[in-house]
Amino acid sequence: MSNTFFGSDFDELNATDPEIAKVLLDELTRLRSGIQLIASENYTSPAVLTALGSTLSNKYAEGYPGKRYYGGCEVVDVAETIGIERAKSLFGADHANLQPHSGASANIAVFGAFLQPGDTYLAMALPHGGHLTHGAGVSYSGKWFNPVHYGVAEGNEDIDYDQLRALAREHKPKMIIAGGSAIPRLIDFKAIREIADEVGAIMHVDAAHFIGLVAGKAIPSPVPYADVVSFTTHKVLRGPRSGMILCKEEHAAKIDKAVFPMMQGGPMMHVIAAKAVALKECATPEYQKYAKDVIVNAQALTAGLAAEGMRPVTGGTDTHLALLDLQGIDVSGKDAEQRAGDSGIVLNKNSIPYDPKPAAVTSGVRVGTPSLTTQGMGVPEMATIASMIGRAVKSDNPAVHAEIKAEVLDLTAKFPAYPRP
Ligand SMILES: *Cc1c(COP(=O)(O)O)cnc(C)c1O
Repeated sequence: MSNTFFGSDFDELNATDPEIAKVLLDELTRLRSGIQLIASENYTSPAVLTALGSTLSNKYAEGYPGKRYYGGCEVVDVAETIGIERAKSLFGADHANLQPHSGASANIAVFGAFLQPGDTYLAMALPHGGHLTHGAGVSYSGKWFNPVHYGVAEGNEDIDYDQLRALAREHKPKMIIAGGSAIPRLIDFKAIREIADEVGAIMHVDAAHFIGLVAGKAIPSPVPYADVVSFTTHKVLRGPRSGMILCKEEHAAKIDKAVFPMMQGGPMMHVIAAKAVALKECATPEYQKYAKDVIVNAQALTAGLAAEGMRPVTGGTDTHLALLDLQGIDVSGKDAEQRAGDSGIVLNKNSIPYDPKPAAVTSGVRVGTPSLTTQGMGVPEMATIASMIGRAVKSDNPAVHAEIKAEVLDLTAKFPAYPRP
């Protein structure tokens, strides 16, 4: 292959730069030898990786297919046009923009399309499951705009739609954002559409976390309801690290101008080609089965963790992720992350709604099943992993952690990430 195709050639890299070649191998070994429970991660396919490692990286293609500011774009135009058509068909969307470099930059473009600096918008509070780009003070979204935050009800820990409606009536936001990074339950898009219509707001769904489940037809889609849907392509969706925006036809020109030239310059054509590859994969029955299995596995893992005394926030999950409250076992999120990590299990500490502990410590952890499901693990493995996590986080004994790490190696050997051909 290396004679005819320049790119993705490990031997070539190893000869040129053995130090970085070693980093690539070490990371592959790390992925293969641990249990990856980071809810926002996945293992993208060798086909996607090949598109990423291609000469399309060289091409300047500011503009859109057929309307570029550079010559020589006729080949990359094909990739972007195929990608746009695949996105529209997979999600039933009027318009798709494949150029945002990431989820955060897709969101900048949405703000740029619909808001002026200082404008008011509603979004989910970060400590209740929102995202930094939904109005955190350290983000452009909080520095340059005026966020008003809704959250979850203290009782059922699900989105408080009554509070959302009351805040919308009070503040008359220009935009309402739905979505977040630690929401285990389905979102009622119809309810949010009705509130947005009542106050004349744009409805923006940030579907970064769950869009893969929508692509796989495992959960309902926000596309029929929202004016605009932004997302990352590297989470459950299993594509390259990047972003994308879908919108109604009436907003298409605004969104395209906000992505380029307002928000960024030249698109990454290699990443756009890789997004097209991922979208093709997502349209297959295999991917649809995968998306359903991700949820079944998340539910099995959550039940197993509940049996270990880790309380699932909202009582469970409808998606690929769960948030566990560790107060019942008297362990902080920070200690749990460390102890699991020492045992070969990678997860992250996460604030729970109404968390009494600061964000650097937290009372919770977040777990997700996109990666394990890509490896082919199922419900029996989720039970095993839940019990390993329980033992790991409840112990501060390094010998216990070493013992679990050996069990992790046995398990991952049976379900290798990136199996050797
Ligand atoms: C992951 C995520 C983002 C940011 O994506 P990046 O690609 O890391 O910039 C934005 N919004 C939500 C809800 C996310 O979960």
